[in-house]
Amino acid sequence: MKKDILVIHTGGTISMFEDKTGAVKPGNENPLSSHTMGLSNLANIIIKEPFNLPSPHITMTEMLQIKKLILDEINQKDIDGIVITHGTDTLEETAYFLDLTLGLNIPIVVTGAMRSSNEVGSDGLYNLITSIRVAACDDAREKGVLVVLNDEIHTAKNVTKTHTSNVSTFQSPQYGPIGIVTKQGIFFHNQPTLKENYKIDQITKQVALLKAHAGMDSLLFYAIKELNFDGLVVEALGQGNLPPATVEGIKALIDVNIPVIIVSRCFNGIAQDVYGYDGGGKYLREMGAIFSNGLNGQKARIKLLIGLSHTNNMKFIEDMFH
Ligand code: ASP
Repeated sequence: MKKDILVIHTGGTISMFEDKTGAVKPGNENPLSSHTMGLSNLANIIIKEPFNLPSPHITMTEMLQIKKLILDEINQKDIDGIVITHGTDTLEETAYFLDLTLGLNIPIVVTGAMRSSNEVGSDGLYNLITSIRVAACDDAREKGVLVVLNDEIHTAKNVTKTHTSNVSTFQSPQYGPIGIVTKQGIFFHNQPTLKENYKIDQITKQVALLKAHAGMDSLLFYAIKELNFDGLVVEALGQGNLPPATVEGIKALIDVNIPVIIVSRCFNGIAQDVYGYDGGGKYLREMGAIFSNGLNGQKARIKLLIGLSHTNNMKFIEDMFH
């Protein structure tokens, strides 16, 4: 029997076209809308288009809107799987947000495209078809939110955009995809382990993200305190170290209970408190900085926003990152 698949179009290159000047932009009509109904051989498709935005325009408001739309639809209809089309620039953030907050067992797939609808080699329709096939596959249940592009299935937690323009841009550094899609089937070779779910209806907090560099000092850390941010994620150096001149700034934040999450600016590996010198990981941890378990900066920021919206218990927030 054909599955009922909810397809939510939110914008991005997958919904754009290239004009005569070579500019890629949204048009009056979403090119996917005309195609999607033609996919009824794959599943019974229900289409929703809450907005049509390039993904650099996506904020927490739109992420919450997508979550609410999904929960409303699930409550009204029997839906077997969900596909969300999205711009690729912030796709991993929306995917991870939904992964942490939806708590559904059915397959949920986020997809996009690197080439717009009328460009040679456009990958949009292909990725949409592949994603609908994954969303209709029983083996894709209970796996959290998945990201499907270029015949690969990734977890929302590990996937990241690694290339500005290549169609194989989405990769899960260190872990690889958990499945592949071929003409004949959908094959999973790994099972995601940890399932997390946080109940939130709104995001009221502000979390900043800073990238460390040689010679960094405390100025921006003081600014973050002055600007009343509620939390900070730092993409630290290597295993999780910072220049000594940042230490006073970090301390100023921790002293007023602003959580400081340490991730690494290396895109492989896990930030750990290994080094005991001034500004080294052990030093930062003793000061009260929280080390994140392998998340990249943008996802640690989403997680901290969710954590701060869920509770003000710092111990709970620290545990979220372990
Ligand atoms: N800038 C586009 C966006 O994120 C890129 C894409 O969709 O591939 O909306």
